Amino acid sequence: MARLTRNYRSVTDDLWHMELKLYDTLTRGKRAFRPIDPARVRMYVCGPTVYDLAHIGNARPVIVFDVLYRLLRHLYGAPNVTYVRNITDVDDKINARAAERGIGIRELTEQTYANFKADVAALGCLPPDVEPRATDHIIEMRILIERLVASGNAYVAEDHVLFSVPLMPDYGKLSKRSLDEMMAGARVDVAPYKRDAMDFVLWKPSKPGEPSWPSPAGIKAEGRPGWHIECSAMSWKHLGETFDIHGGGIDLVFPHHENEIAQSRCAHGTDVMANYWLHNGFLQVEGEKMAKSTGNFITIRELLDDWPGEVLRLNMLRTHYRQPIDWTLRNLEESAKVLDEFYAAAADAPAEAISGQVIEALTDDLNTPQVITAVHGLRSLAQGGDILARNELAASLRFLGFLTDTAAIWAARRQVTHHVDAAQVEALIEARASARKAKNFAESDRIRDELAAMGVVLKDSKDGTTWEVAR
Ligand code: AMP
Ligand code: ZN
Repeated sequence: MARLTRNYRSVTDDLWHMELKLYDTLTRGKRAFRPIDPARVRMYVCGPTVYDLAHIGNARPVIVFDVLYRLLRHLYGAPNVTYVRNITDVDDKINARAAERGIGIRELTEQTYANFKADVAALGCLPPDVEPRATDHIIEMRILIERLVASGNAYVAEDHVLFSVPLMPDYGKLSKRSLDEMMAGARVDVAPYKRDAMDFVLWKPSKPGEPSWPSPAGIKAEGRPGWHIECSAMSWKHLGETFDIHGGGIDLVFPHHENEIAQSRCAHGTDVMANYWLHNGFLQVEGEKMAKSTGNFITIRELLDDWPGEVLRLNMLRTHYRQPIDWTLRNLEESAKVLDEFYAAAADAPAEAISGQVIEALTDDLNTPQVITAVHGLRSLAQGGDILARNELAASLRFLGFLTDTAAIWAARRQVTHHVDAAQVEALIEARASARKAKNFAESDRIRDELAAMGVVLKDSKDGTTWEVAR
Protein backbone atom coordinates (compact mmCIF):
# COMPACT_ATOMS: atom_id res chain seq x y z
CA MET A 1 0.00 0.00 0.00
CA ALA A 2 2.32 2.69 -1.26
CA ARG A 3 -0.46 5.20 -0.86
CA LEU A 4 -0.44 4.95 2.92
CA THR A 5 3.16 6.06 3.01
CA ARG A 6 2.17 9.45 1.61
CA ASN A 7 0.91 12.28 3.68
CA TYR A 8 -2.29 12.50 1.76
CA ARG A 9 -4.91 15.20 2.04
CA SER A 10 -8.30 14.44 0.61
CA VAL A 11 -9.23 16.17 -2.62
CA THR A 12 -12.32 17.85 -1.13
CA ASP A 13 -10.14 19.22 1.66
CA ASP A 14 -7.75 20.67 -0.87
CA LEU A 15 -10.50 22.25 -2.92
CA TRP A 16 -12.07 23.78 0.12
CA HIS A 17 -8.85 25.51 1.12
CA MET A 18 -7.63 26.34 -2.31
CA GLU A 19 -7.95 29.91 -3.32
CA LEU A 20 -7.25 30.99 -6.86
CA LYS A 21 -4.64 33.73 -7.11
CA LEU A 22 -3.99 35.55 -10.35
CA TYR A 23 -1.38 38.10 -11.36
CA ASP A 24 -3.21 41.25 -12.41
CA THR A 25 -1.34 43.57 -14.79
CA LEU A 26 -3.44 46.53 -13.62
CA THR A 27 -2.32 46.26 -9.98
CA ARG A 28 1.02 44.60 -10.79
CA GLY A 29 0.58 41.84 -8.26
CA LYS A 30 -1.01 38.49 -7.43
CA ARG A 31 -4.47 38.82 -5.93
CA ALA A 32 -7.10 36.40 -4.69
CA PHE A 33 -9.69 35.89 -7.41
CA ARG A 34 -13.20 36.90 -6.39
CA PRO A 35 -15.71 36.69 -9.22
CA ILE A 36 -18.44 39.32 -9.38
CA ASP A 37 -20.95 36.44 -9.49
CA PRO A 38 -19.65 32.89 -8.75
CA ALA A 39 -22.64 31.56 -10.69
CA ARG A 40 -21.47 33.47 -13.76
CA VAL A 41 -17.70 33.76 -13.96
CA ARG A 42 -16.83 35.79 -17.06
CA MET A 43 -13.63 35.84 -19.11
CA TYR A 44 -12.82 37.67 -22.35
CA VAL A 45 -9.68 36.96 -24.41
CA CYS A 46 -8.63 38.84 -27.55
CA GLY A 47 -8.72 36.38 -30.42
CA PRO A 48 -7.07 36.20 -33.83
CA THR A 49 -7.23 38.58 -36.75
CA VAL A 50 -8.19 36.07 -39.41
CA TYR A 51 -6.09 36.80 -42.49
CA ASP A 52 -3.51 34.01 -42.40
CA LEU A 53 -2.66 30.73 -40.69
CA ALA A 54 -1.99 31.17 -36.97
CA HIS A 55 1.63 30.90 -35.84
CA ILE A 56 2.91 29.19 -32.73
CA GLY A 57 3.06 32.56 -30.90
CA ASN A 58 -0.68 32.97 -31.46
CA ALA A 59 -1.14 29.52 -29.94
CA ARG A 60 0.26 30.68 -26.62
CA PRO A 61 -2.69 32.76 -25.36
CA VAL A 62 -5.08 30.13 -26.74
CA ILE A 63 -3.43 27.33 -24.71
CA VAL A 64 -2.79 29.42 -21.59
CA PHE A 65 -6.35 30.71 -21.33
CA ASP A 66 -7.69 27.24 -22.12
CA VAL A 67 -5.93 26.03 -18.98
CA LEU A 68 -7.45 28.88 -16.98
CA TYR A 69 -10.87 28.11 -18.49
CA ARG A 70 -10.55 24.45 -17.47
CA LEU A 71 -9.52 25.49 -13.95
CA LEU A 72 -12.42 27.95 -13.59
CA ARG A 73 -14.85 25.26 -14.75
CA HIS A 74 -13.37 22.90 -12.21
CA LEU A 75 -13.59 25.41 -9.35
CA TYR A 76 -16.97 27.01 -10.15
CA GLY A 77 -18.72 24.32 -12.22
CA ALA A 78 -18.71 24.25 -16.01
CA PRO A 79 -22.17 25.84 -16.51
CA ASN A 80 -21.13 28.79 -14.32
CA VAL A 81 -18.24 29.96 -16.51
CA THR A 82 -18.55 31.99 -19.73
CA TYR A 83 -15.47 32.27 -21.91
CA VAL A 84 -15.61 34.67 -24.86
CA ARG A 85 -12.82 34.79 -27.46
CA ASN A 86 -13.50 37.08 -30.40
CA ILE A 87 -12.65 36.86 -34.07
CA THR A 88 -11.39 40.06 -35.69
CA ASP A 89 -12.74 39.79 -39.22
CA VAL A 90 -12.48 43.44 -40.29
CA ASP A 91 -8.96 44.82 -40.58
CA ASP A 92 -6.52 46.38 -43.08
CA LYS A 93 -4.46 43.18 -43.27
CA ILE A 94 -7.59 41.21 -44.17
CA ASN A 95 -8.52 43.61 -46.99
CA ALA A 96 -4.98 43.53 -48.37
CA ARG A 97 -4.70 39.73 -48.25
CA ALA A 98 -8.10 39.16 -49.89
CA ALA A 99 -7.13 41.51 -52.73
CA GLU A 100 -3.75 39.78 -53.07
CA ARG A 101 -5.37 36.37 -53.36
CA GLY A 102 -8.21 37.63 -55.52
CA ILE A 103 -10.89 36.25 -53.21
CA GLY A 104 -13.74 37.85 -51.28
CA ILE A 105 -13.16 39.12 -47.75
CA ARG A 106 -15.80 36.82 -46.29
CA GLU A 107 -14.27 33.84 -48.11
CA LEU A 108 -10.83 34.67 -46.69
CA THR A 109 -12.05 35.18 -43.13
CA GLU A 110 -14.24 32.02 -43.21
CA GLN A 111 -11.34 29.93 -44.50
CA THR A 112 -8.85 31.34 -42.01
CA TYR A 113 -11.25 30.96 -39.12
CA ALA A 114 -11.96 27.32 -40.03
CA ASN A 115 -8.21 26.66 -40.13
CA PHE A 116 -7.73 28.39 -36.78
CA LYS A 117 -10.48 26.31 -35.17
CA ALA A 118 -8.98 23.07 -36.49
CA ASP A 119 -5.46 24.05 -35.37
CA VAL A 120 -6.39 24.97 -31.81
CA ALA A 121 -8.63 21.90 -31.46
CA ALA A 122 -5.57 19.81 -32.38
CA LEU A 123 -3.74 21.55 -29.52
CA GLY A 124 -6.35 20.19 -27.10
CA CYS A 125 -8.12 23.52 -26.50
CA LEU A 126 -11.82 23.52 -25.66
CA PRO A 127 -13.93 25.82 -27.81
CA PRO A 128 -14.91 28.99 -25.91
CA ASP A 129 -18.60 29.42 -25.04
CA VAL A 130 -18.93 32.34 -27.45
CA GLU A 131 -16.72 33.21 -30.46
CA PRO A 132 -18.19 36.50 -31.62
CA ARG A 133 -17.23 38.03 -34.95
CA ALA A 134 -16.53 41.74 -35.06
CA THR A 135 -18.67 42.19 -38.20
CA ASP A 136 -21.72 40.84 -36.33
CA HIS A 137 -21.37 43.62 -33.71
CA ILE A 138 -21.32 46.81 -35.76
CA ILE A 139 -24.55 47.99 -34.10
CA GLU A 140 -23.05 47.68 -30.62
CA MET A 141 -19.94 49.55 -31.79
CA ARG A 142 -22.09 52.35 -33.16
CA ILE A 143 -24.00 52.61 -29.88
CA LEU A 144 -20.75 52.89 -27.91
CA ILE A 145 -19.38 55.48 -30.31
CA GLU A 146 -22.59 57.55 -30.12
CA ARG A 147 -22.37 57.48 -26.33
CA LEU A 148 -18.74 58.56 -26.36
CA VAL A 149 -19.50 61.45 -28.69
CA ALA A 150 -22.51 62.47 -26.54
CA SER A 151 -20.41 62.44 -23.34
CA GLY A 152 -17.68 64.52 -24.98
CA ASN A 153 -15.10 61.71 -24.83
CA ALA A 154 -15.00 61.46 -28.60
CA TYR A 155 -15.24 63.87 -31.52
CA VAL A 156 -15.84 63.79 -35.26
CA ALA A 157 -13.15 65.04 -37.67
CA GLU A 158 -12.99 64.50 -41.43
CA ASP A 159 -15.45 61.57 -41.34
CA HIS A 160 -13.44 59.91 -38.55
CA VAL A 161 -14.53 59.51 -34.94
CA LEU A 162 -11.63 59.88 -32.51
CA PHE A 163 -11.34 59.18 -28.80
CA SER A 164 -10.02 62.18 -26.95
CA VAL A 165 -7.27 60.83 -24.70
CA PRO A 166 -6.46 64.02 -22.70
CA LEU A 167 -10.07 64.15 -21.48
CA MET A 168 -9.66 60.88 -19.60
CA PRO A 169 -7.64 61.69 -16.48
CA ASP A 170 -6.41 58.17 -15.65
CA TYR A 171 -5.65 57.02 -19.20
CA GLY A 172 -2.47 54.90 -19.14
CA LYS A 173 -3.14 53.12 -15.84
CA LEU A 174 -2.79 49.62 -17.27
CA SER A 175 0.46 50.11 -19.14
CA LYS A 176 1.80 52.61 -16.58
CA ARG A 177 3.44 54.55 -19.35
CA SER A 178 4.35 58.10 -18.74
CA LEU A 179 2.58 60.69 -20.82
CA ASP A 180 5.91 61.51 -22.49
CA GLU A 181 6.44 57.91 -23.53
CA MET A 182 2.96 57.68 -24.97
CA MET A 183 3.34 60.99 -26.75
CA ALA A 184 6.65 59.89 -28.25
CA GLY A 185 5.01 56.71 -29.55
CA ALA A 186 1.98 58.55 -30.88
CA ARG A 187 3.89 61.35 -32.58
CA VAL A 188 5.05 59.25 -35.47
CA ASP A 189 2.92 60.16 -38.45
CA VAL A 190 0.18 62.11 -36.67
CA ALA A 191 -2.95 62.43 -38.78
CA PRO A 192 -3.82 66.12 -39.28
CA TYR A 193 -7.42 65.64 -38.10
CA LYS A 194 -6.37 64.55 -34.58
CA ARG A 195 -6.73 67.16 -31.84
CA ASP A 196 -4.05 65.40 -29.85
CA ALA A 197 -1.34 63.02 -31.04
CA MET A 198 -2.53 60.33 -28.59
CA ASP A 199 -6.17 60.34 -29.76
CA PHE A 200 -7.13 57.06 -31.39
CA VAL A 201 -9.60 56.05 -34.07
CA LEU A 202 -13.02 54.65 -33.17
CA TRP A 203 -14.43 54.83 -36.69
CA LYS A 204 -12.96 55.70 -40.07
CA PRO A 205 -14.25 56.15 -43.62
CA SER A 206 -13.96 53.13 -45.94
CA LYS A 207 -12.05 53.39 -49.20
CA PRO A 208 -13.77 52.07 -52.34
CA GLY A 209 -13.88 48.28 -52.27
CA GLU A 210 -13.40 48.06 -48.51
CA PRO A 211 -16.17 46.71 -46.27
CA SER A 212 -18.38 49.55 -45.08
CA TRP A 213 -21.36 50.22 -42.85
CA PRO A 214 -23.55 53.27 -42.15
CA SER A 215 -21.52 55.56 -39.90
CA PRO A 216 -22.44 56.81 -36.41
CA ALA A 217 -22.45 60.41 -35.15
CA GLY A 218 -24.14 61.93 -38.21
CA ILE A 219 -21.28 61.11 -40.60
CA LYS A 220 -22.69 60.78 -44.13
CA ALA A 221 -19.96 58.64 -45.69
CA GLU A 222 -20.02 54.91 -44.89
CA GLY A 223 -17.16 53.64 -42.79
CA ARG A 224 -15.70 50.87 -40.67
CA PRO A 225 -14.65 50.46 -37.04
CA GLY A 226 -11.19 50.81 -35.52
CA TRP A 227 -9.74 47.67 -33.93
CA HIS A 228 -10.04 48.63 -30.24
CA ILE A 229 -13.79 49.41 -30.29
CA GLU A 230 -14.48 45.89 -31.56
CA CYS A 231 -13.43 44.28 -28.29
CA SER A 232 -15.27 46.86 -26.16
CA ALA A 233 -18.45 46.08 -28.12
CA MET A 234 -18.14 42.29 -28.07
CA SER A 235 -17.22 42.04 -24.38
CA TRP A 236 -20.13 44.36 -23.50
CA LYS A 237 -22.63 42.36 -25.55
CA HIS A 238 -21.61 38.96 -24.19
CA LEU A 239 -20.30 39.71 -20.69
CA GLY A 240 -21.71 43.07 -19.62
CA GLU A 241 -20.23 46.44 -18.69
CA THR A 242 -17.86 45.03 -16.07
CA PHE A 243 -16.64 41.42 -16.01
CA ASP A 244 -14.05 39.28 -14.22
CA ILE A 245 -11.04 38.47 -16.40
CA HIS A 246 -9.62 40.01 -19.55
CA GLY A 247 -6.69 38.28 -21.24
CA GLY A 248 -4.32 38.44 -24.18
CA GLY A 249 -0.65 38.60 -25.10
CA ILE A 250 1.65 41.11 -23.41
CA ASP A 251 1.93 43.07 -26.67
CA LEU A 252 -1.75 44.00 -26.32
CA VAL A 253 -1.34 45.94 -23.04
CA PHE A 254 -0.56 49.10 -24.97
CA PRO A 255 -2.32 50.48 -26.83
CA HIS A 256 -5.06 47.86 -27.41
CA HIS A 257 -6.13 47.08 -23.84
CA GLU A 258 -5.47 50.60 -22.61
CA ASN A 259 -7.86 51.83 -25.31
CA GLU A 260 -10.46 49.14 -24.63
CA ILE A 261 -10.50 50.30 -21.00
CA ALA A 262 -10.81 53.95 -21.97
CA GLN A 263 -13.71 53.31 -24.37
CA SER A 264 -15.66 50.92 -22.14
CA ARG A 265 -15.28 52.89 -18.93
CA CYS A 266 -16.19 56.22 -20.52
CA ALA A 267 -19.14 54.75 -22.47
CA HIS A 268 -20.60 52.98 -19.44
CA GLY A 269 -19.51 55.40 -16.71
CA THR A 270 -17.82 52.57 -14.79
CA ASP A 271 -14.62 52.50 -12.73
CA VAL A 272 -13.37 49.23 -14.18
CA MET A 273 -13.83 47.27 -17.36
CA ALA A 274 -12.48 43.97 -16.02
CA ASN A 275 -11.29 43.14 -12.50
CA TYR A 276 -8.24 41.04 -13.51
CA TRP A 277 -6.01 41.70 -16.53
CA LEU A 278 -3.89 38.70 -17.49
CA HIS A 279 -1.13 38.76 -20.10
CA ASN A 280 1.00 35.96 -21.47
CA GLY A 281 4.66 36.52 -22.25
CA PHE A 282 6.06 36.38 -25.74
CA LEU A 283 7.36 33.39 -27.62
CA GLN A 284 10.49 33.44 -29.74
CA VAL A 285 11.88 30.71 -31.96
CA GLU A 286 15.38 29.27 -31.51
CA GLY A 287 16.48 32.44 -29.71
CA GLU A 288 15.13 34.86 -32.28
CA LYS A 289 12.10 37.08 -32.45
CA MET A 290 9.43 35.52 -34.60
CA ALA A 291 8.84 37.76 -37.58
CA LYS A 292 7.51 37.17 -41.04
CA SER A 293 10.08 39.55 -42.53
CA THR A 294 13.03 37.41 -41.37
CA GLY A 295 11.32 34.13 -42.25
CA ASN A 296 11.56 33.16 -38.59
CA PHE A 297 7.97 32.15 -38.49
CA ILE A 298 6.33 28.78 -37.81
CA THR A 299 2.65 28.08 -38.22
CA ILE A 300 0.79 25.73 -35.86
CA ARG A 301 -0.06 23.69 -38.95
CA GLU A 302 3.57 23.11 -39.94
CA LEU A 303 4.36 21.97 -36.42
CA LEU A 304 1.35 19.63 -36.41
CA ASP A 305 2.85 17.92 -39.46
CA ASP A 306 5.81 16.87 -37.33
CA TRP A 307 4.43 16.53 -33.81
CA PRO A 308 1.23 15.40 -32.10
CA GLY A 309 -0.73 18.40 -30.78
CA GLU A 310 -0.18 17.22 -27.20
CA VAL A 311 3.59 17.66 -27.62
CA LEU A 312 3.10 21.29 -28.65
CA ARG A 313 0.68 21.82 -25.76
CA LEU A 314 3.04 20.33 -23.16
CA ASN A 315 5.97 22.27 -24.62
CA MET A 316 3.99 25.49 -24.16
CA LEU A 317 3.01 24.68 -20.58
CA ARG A 318 6.48 23.74 -19.38
CA THR A 319 7.15 27.49 -19.07
CA HIS A 320 5.11 29.72 -16.77
CA TYR A 321 2.71 31.79 -18.87
CA ARG A 322 4.18 35.16 -17.86
CA GLN A 323 7.75 34.20 -18.78
CA PRO A 324 9.12 34.45 -22.29
CA ILE A 325 9.42 31.11 -24.13
CA ASP A 326 12.21 30.12 -26.41
CA TRP A 327 10.59 27.58 -28.75
CA THR A 328 13.27 25.07 -29.78
CA LEU A 329 13.45 21.72 -31.49
CA ARG A 330 15.39 20.43 -28.53
CA ASN A 331 12.60 21.30 -26.09
CA LEU A 332 10.04 19.72 -28.41
CA GLU A 333 12.01 16.49 -28.45
CA GLU A 334 12.13 16.53 -24.63
CA SER A 335 8.40 17.25 -24.38
CA ALA A 336 7.67 14.33 -26.70
CA LYS A 337 9.72 11.99 -24.51
CA VAL A 338 7.96 13.19 -21.37
CA LEU A 339 4.59 12.44 -22.99
CA ASP A 340 5.84 8.97 -23.99
CA GLU A 341 6.49 8.37 -20.29
CA PHE A 342 3.08 9.69 -19.26
CA TYR A 343 1.37 7.49 -21.83
CA ALA A 344 3.38 4.47 -20.74
CA ALA A 345 2.44 5.07 -17.10
CA ALA A 346 -1.24 5.94 -17.35
CA ALA A 347 -2.75 5.93 -20.84
CA ASP A 348 -5.12 3.08 -20.24
CA ALA A 349 -5.90 3.83 -16.58
CA PRO A 350 -9.38 4.95 -15.53
CA ALA A 351 -9.54 8.63 -14.62
CA GLU A 352 -10.63 9.16 -11.03
CA ALA A 353 -10.01 12.23 -8.86
CA ILE A 354 -7.69 14.96 -10.11
CA SER A 355 -4.60 15.41 -7.96
CA GLY A 356 -4.95 18.08 -5.25
CA GLN A 357 -1.33 19.07 -5.89
CA VAL A 358 -2.11 19.78 -9.52
CA ILE A 359 -5.06 22.00 -8.64
CA GLU A 360 -3.03 23.71 -5.94
CA ALA A 361 -0.23 24.57 -8.39
CA LEU A 362 -2.76 25.86 -10.92
CA THR A 363 -4.45 28.07 -8.35
CA ASP A 364 -1.08 29.76 -7.78
CA ASP A 365 -1.35 31.99 -10.87
CA LEU A 366 -1.39 28.97 -13.22
CA ASN A 367 1.97 27.58 -12.15
CA THR A 368 2.15 24.95 -14.88
CA PRO A 369 5.87 24.11 -14.37
CA GLN A 370 4.89 23.16 -10.79
CA VAL A 371 1.93 21.18 -12.17
CA ILE A 372 4.31 19.18 -14.35
CA THR A 373 6.58 18.48 -11.38
CA ALA A 374 3.54 17.21 -9.44
CA VAL A 375 2.54 15.03 -12.38
CA HIS A 376 6.04 13.55 -12.57
CA GLY A 377 5.73 12.70 -8.86
CA LEU A 378 2.51 10.80 -9.54
CA ARG A 379 4.16 9.07 -12.48
CA SER A 380 6.97 7.68 -10.36
CA LEU A 381 4.49 6.49 -7.73
CA ALA A 382 2.43 4.91 -10.52
CA GLN A 383 5.48 3.20 -11.96
CA GLY A 384 6.20 1.88 -8.46
CA GLY A 385 2.85 0.10 -8.58
CA ASP A 386 0.61 2.63 -6.84
CA ILE A 387 -2.71 2.09 -8.61
CA LEU A 388 -4.44 5.09 -7.03
CA ALA A 389 -1.57 7.36 -8.08
CA ARG A 390 -1.86 5.95 -11.58
CA ASN A 391 -5.56 6.74 -11.75
CA GLU A 392 -4.97 10.21 -10.32
CA LEU A 393 -2.24 10.73 -12.90
CA ALA A 394 -4.66 9.78 -15.68
CA ALA A 395 -7.37 12.09 -14.32
CA SER A 396 -4.97 15.01 -13.91
CA LEU A 397 -3.47 14.65 -17.38
CA ARG A 398 -6.88 14.36 -19.04
CA PHE A 399 -8.10 17.38 -17.11
CA LEU A 400 -5.14 19.32 -18.53
CA GLY A 401 -5.95 18.21 -22.07
CA PHE A 402 -3.46 15.33 -22.36
CA LEU A 403 -3.77 11.54 -22.73
CA THR A 404 -6.62 11.94 -25.18
CA ASP A 405 -5.42 8.89 -27.14
CA THR A 406 -5.05 5.25 -26.16
CA ALA A 407 -1.49 3.97 -25.70
CA ALA A 408 -1.71 2.18 -29.06
CA ILE A 409 -2.87 5.24 -30.97
CA TRP A 410 -0.23 7.35 -29.29
CA ALA A 411 2.49 4.91 -30.31
CA ALA A 412 1.25 4.98 -33.91
CA ARG A 413 1.10 8.77 -33.90
CA ARG A 414 4.61 9.03 -32.52
CA GLN A 415 5.82 6.67 -35.22
CA VAL A 416 4.38 8.87 -37.92
CA THR A 417 5.34 12.18 -36.41
CA HIS A 418 8.64 11.01 -35.00
CA HIS A 419 11.16 13.73 -35.53
CA VAL A 420 13.76 12.72 -38.08
CA ASP A 421 17.32 13.98 -37.87
CA ALA A 422 18.04 15.03 -41.46
CA ALA A 423 21.84 14.81 -41.12
CA GLN A 424 21.56 11.25 -39.79
CA VAL A 425 19.25 10.27 -42.65
CA GLU A 426 21.62 11.73 -45.25
CA ALA A 427 24.57 9.87 -43.67
CA LEU A 428 22.65 6.57 -43.76
CA ILE A 429 21.66 7.14 -47.39
CA GLU A 430 25.30 7.70 -48.26
CA ALA A 431 26.36 4.55 -46.40
CA ARG A 432 23.68 2.63 -48.28
CA ALA A 433 24.93 3.97 -51.62
CA SER A 434 28.50 2.86 -50.77
CA ALA A 435 27.26 -0.58 -49.74
CA ARG A 436 25.39 -0.91 -53.02
CA LYS A 437 28.44 0.17 -54.99
CA ALA A 438 30.44 -2.53 -53.20
CA LYS A 439 27.63 -4.98 -54.06
CA ASN A 440 27.04 -5.55 -50.35
CA PHE A 441 23.28 -5.88 -50.74
CA ALA A 442 22.72 -7.39 -47.32
CA GLU A 443 24.15 -4.20 -45.80
CA SER A 444 22.26 -1.85 -48.14
CA ASP A 445 18.99 -3.65 -47.35
CA ARG A 446 19.74 -3.45 -43.66
CA ILE A 447 20.22 0.32 -43.93
CA ARG A 448 16.99 0.67 -45.91
CA ASP A 449 15.17 -1.21 -43.12
CA GLU A 450 16.77 0.98 -40.48
CA LEU A 451 15.56 4.08 -42.32
CA ALA A 452 12.08 2.56 -42.73
CA ALA A 453 11.94 2.01 -38.97
CA MET A 454 12.63 5.74 -38.58
CA GLY A 455 9.64 6.41 -40.82
CA VAL A 456 11.81 7.43 -43.78
CA VAL A 457 10.78 6.30 -47.25
CA LEU A 458 13.45 6.23 -49.96
CA LYS A 459 12.89 6.93 -53.62
CA ASP A 460 15.67 5.76 -55.92
CA SER A 461 16.01 7.25 -59.36
CA LYS A 462 18.74 7.66 -61.94
CA ASP A 463 19.59 11.01 -60.33
CA GLY A 464 20.19 9.47 -56.94
CA THR A 465 18.08 8.84 -53.86
CA THR A 466 15.55 11.23 -52.36
CA TRP A 467 13.67 10.65 -49.14
CA GLU A 468 10.59 11.73 -47.24
CA VAL A 469 9.00 11.03 -43.91
CA ALA A 470 6.06 8.62 -44.24
CA ARG A 471 2.67 10.06 -43.22
P1 AMP B 1 -2.86 38.78 -33.50
O1 AMP B 1 -3.60 37.86 -34.43
O2 AMP B 1 -1.52 39.21 -34.00
O3 AMP B 1 -3.73 39.94 -33.06
O4 AMP B 1 -2.52 37.97 -32.18
C1 AMP B 1 -3.45 37.15 -31.51
C2 AMP B 1 -2.93 36.84 -30.13
O5 AMP B 1 -1.63 36.19 -30.18
C3 AMP B 1 -2.72 38.07 -29.24
O6 AMP B 1 -3.18 37.76 -27.93
C4 AMP B 1 -1.23 38.29 -29.26
O7 AMP B 1 -0.78 38.93 -28.10
C5 AMP B 1 -0.71 36.86 -29.31
N1 AMP B 1 0.65 36.75 -29.87
C6 AMP B 1 1.07 37.15 -31.08
N2 AMP B 1 2.39 36.87 -31.26
C7 AMP B 1 2.83 36.27 -30.13
C8 AMP B 1 4.09 35.74 -29.70
N3 AMP B 1 5.17 35.74 -30.46
N4 AMP B 1 4.15 35.20 -28.45
C9 AMP B 1 3.07 35.16 -27.66
N5 AMP B 1 1.85 35.64 -27.99
C10 AMP B 1 1.71 36.19 -29.21
ZN1 ZN C 1 -9.14 43.00 -27.77
